[in-house]
Amino acid sequence: MNEINDVVIIGGGPAGLAAALYTSRANLKPVMFAGSPPGGQLTLTSDVENYLGFDSILGPELIAKMRAHVAKFGVIIYDENVTSVEFNQAPFKIKSVDHEVMAKSVIIATGAKALWLNLESEQRLKGKGVSACATCDAFFFKNKVVAVVGGGDTAMEEALTLTKFATKVYLIHRKDSFRASKIMQDRVLKHEKIEVVWNTAVTEVLGEQKVEGLKLQNSKDNTTKELKLDGLFLGIGHKPDTELFKDEVMLDEKGYIITSAMKALSNQISDLSGQNNADFNWKYQTATNVEGVFAGGDCVDHVYRQATTAVGMGVAAALDVERWLELQ
Ligand code: NDP
Repeated sequence: MNEINDVVIIGGGPAGLAAALYTSRANLKPVMFAGSPPGGQLTLTSDVENYLGFDSILGPELIAKMRAHVAKFGVIIYDENVTSVEFNQAPFKIKSVDHEVMAKSVIIATGAKALWLNLESEQRLKGKGVSACATCDAFFFKNKVVAVVGGGDTAMEEALTLTKFATKVYLIHRKDSFRASKIMQDRVLKHEKIEVVWNTAVTEVLGEQKVEGLKLQNSKDNTTKELKLDGLFLGIGHKPDTELFKDEVMLDEKGYIITSAMKALSNQISDLSGQNNADFNWKYQTATNVEGVFAGGDCVDHVYRQATTAVGMGVAAALDVERWLELQ
């Protein structure tokens, strides 16, 4: 029979690696399934300038440094995708194609993916003027012209962030009205640097080595036009990587894992007090509704979505696990 591990970590981005560092230094001998390819969204980024302690570092290099740091403390890392989990009774079972492990506790840190238009030109120019994170990359567009795609709060926020650097921001939306909150819409519509392009789809990103423009199509009259610019930001939403857990832990309507901290917040916001609260262990902010299963990083957080905040949540999950195991 397999040995029962104290903790298994699912996900090898900043949250999972931070959890691995803390649990290994607490002598819990974590086993990590880092995914294949491992590393999460940072591996798709080029320059990172907002990770404290590094004034400029490439995303893949930052992940490589994190992995090397964690490896020093003897974490077992499988660069494999988990294919199934069983959380209905402890010890929990976690399987990949090559491994099956058992654990007293689990930290889920599977992250999220930005949604893309999936145009060939967009994928080719990712990191060369195409981005899905204005907080991360707006700084690179000082005195340039950029566009944002989307009509929700993310797109509004990205457009407003970009106005601090760019000379002009086109906000391209496929409909004739936004779904974003009224207050964000008002800020965008009032902003002198933002021009909204309604009823329009991006059909191609122009440029060979870097973004030089966009090909646009109007959905009302099918006319096409080209726009010369330097950057394209996608603000069309994110999808958490939580499909595997949908029958195991409580998820919100968008698929994000609900931890006790998020549940407490949503109770305050929507005054749902009492609803499904009984399952949560309120002593631990990163606890899911399954005792012994914790979660952190972008698979939980649809608000901040930064490498640094993911690290913070991974650390919190590790400390919660350490304290929870002491009481078992
Ligand atoms: P949303 O799902 O709310 O909006 C996505 C937008 O992208 C929609 O306008 C949608 O168009 C458009 N879109 C989707 N797919 C495509 C596509 N293939 N091509 C073109 N356009 C597309 O996602 P958000 O990330 O904006 O927000 C997610 C949640 O997070 C929301 O609840 C939001 O309120 C919240 N949030 C809150 C923030 C805050 O409070 N500061 C900041 C950011 C997000 P259509 O409208 O036609 O469907």
